[in-house]
Amino acid sequence: MNNTTIDWNQKARDTATRLSGKILIDGQLTDALCRDTIDVIHPGDISNIGHVPRCNEADVDRAVNSAQQAFSSWRNVAARERGRQLQLAADQLEIEKELIARLCSLDTGNAIRTQSRPETASTIDLTRMFGGLASELKGETVPSASANVLQFSIREPIGVVGGIIPWNAPLFLFVAKVAPALAAGNTVVIKTAEQAPLCVLLVAEIMNRELPPGVLNIVSGYGEECGKPLCEHPLVRKVTFTGSMPVGCAIAGYVASKLCPVTLELGGKNPAIIMPDADLDLAIPGIIDGMRYTRQGQACTAATRVFVHRDLYDQVVEGVVTSLAKLKLGDPLDDETDMGCIISEEQLNRTLHYMEIARNTEGARILFGGERPTEPLLAKGYYYPPTLLDGLQLDNDVCRDEIFGPVATLLPFTDFNSVISDANDTEFGLAANLWTRDLARAMAFVNQIEAGFVQVNQCAAPRSNVSYGGIKMSGLGKEYALDSMLNHFTQSKTVMINPGTPAASV
Ligand code: ADP
Repeated sequence: MNNTTIDWNQKARDTATRLSGKILIDGQLTDALCRDTIDVIHPGDISNIGHVPRCNEADVDRAVNSAQQAFSSWRNVAARERGRQLQLAADQLEIEKELIARLCSLDTGNAIRTQSRPETASTIDLTRMFGGLASELKGETVPSASANVLQFSIREPIGVVGGIIPWNAPLFLFVAKVAPALAAGNTVVIKTAEQAPLCVLLVAEIMNRELPPGVLNIVSGYGEECGKPLCEHPLVRKVTFTGSMPVGCAIAGYVASKLCPVTLELGGKNPAIIMPDADLDLAIPGIIDGMRYTRQGQACTAATRVFVHRDLYDQVVEGVVTSLAKLKLGDPLDDETDMGCIISEEQLNRTLHYMEIARNTEGARILFGGERPTEPLLAKGYYYPPTLLDGLQLDNDVCRDEIFGPVATLLPFTDFNSVISDANDTEFGLAANLWTRDLARAMAFVNQIEAGFVQVNQCAAPRSNVSYGGIKMSGLGKEYALDSMLNHFTQSKTVMINPGTPAASV
């Protein structure tokens, strides 16, 4: 490590200390009413970097009331002016980007070079994009049966939006909710994830330099104690959630009795299919990217079921194993590191549980990884290597459940129709990708695959300006693009204007 790096890391730790114990209400970092706190642990060395309030209904109520109060004026700020303020907020984030990325790595254990800096850059980009899109909040005019009646629709903000975010890409998922909601004239209360709250609080604090007090508020705490009352609060008129499928279903239940619209971005058990004509120079790095190994597999879009045609099975095994051996597992804050560590002991145990199942399955092979590192530096944290399995049947829990760890399974196939049916044999329907040179195959795949985010010859992460979301049990609604802002963060009002008395003749 050079001195500059040491300074940034210290600055990030000092910032974590400064933000500790605070929530953000009415434009101010403030103490919470609740007394209990939750420790924030850096998973790289299990050091305590700070703590956040364990909020309950009382703090949620304060935050929602602040947002409700701010709504009456924010909704009347001209849309382009709201957008301009978001863009100024993005400029502020740009100034602080290294600090934000460092704190994100401290919170999450994600590697600074491969994850936290790119995530910070996407966060800024998405904020800017929605700032620009504020001018697109247009309605429609509708032809009228009568010449003197004007019929049109207008898009209005909904009110206070309650957002609940996870820890795996906390910054991007935060602005994916906040930026379109604010651009559309809503105000927001976000509950951060208990494992990675501080980097989000920092981003919110920085954005508040440019936003009016109360439009963007942050609470922290556990799901049942803080997330549930946020969803149920009578003044919260829209809920947006990213997280696990069971919690998404619970959230839909919390808001049902007030008929509050809800957007749910949930999990996946995503297939990648390597056809016999695939270009392996693309497909092999593509599988590794697609598995999101450099985020320790902690991504909803991770392609964890890799169906490989038997004709090139051995070649794929060899190519993937060779490439995995080159990934450097290490300190998340070290620029040399490709892959950091798992977020928490709970998540590490989840990975270990599924590896135990694999070990106890007859015929299963561990092609790469599968053992926790023993080097002293890594043994201290929640590290687990990229792991590749095969020899498992599709009905094995390893192939059915979302592990959310760095574990993928190769599954050989011979027939296209049966592989499509196997790929679709899951309750989830989030992402899918196919590797082929055959355009007709690609089109058949796009037509038949049950997923909301489908790619051919690439397995890129979701990005700004591309609508993203799942079908089946992977979610409801899409985010990250203009249509998501219009569909999910505005309500439409249909208007018919009949002038009544004839116009006076001049
Ligand atoms: P993960 O398993 O990835 O942590 P979760 O769905 O449990 O995913 O958590 C994602 C977010 O949802 C976190 O902010 C968490 O606190 C919140 N959460 C968990 N359970 C509930 C719940 N019952 N109600 C509301 N929010 C919840």
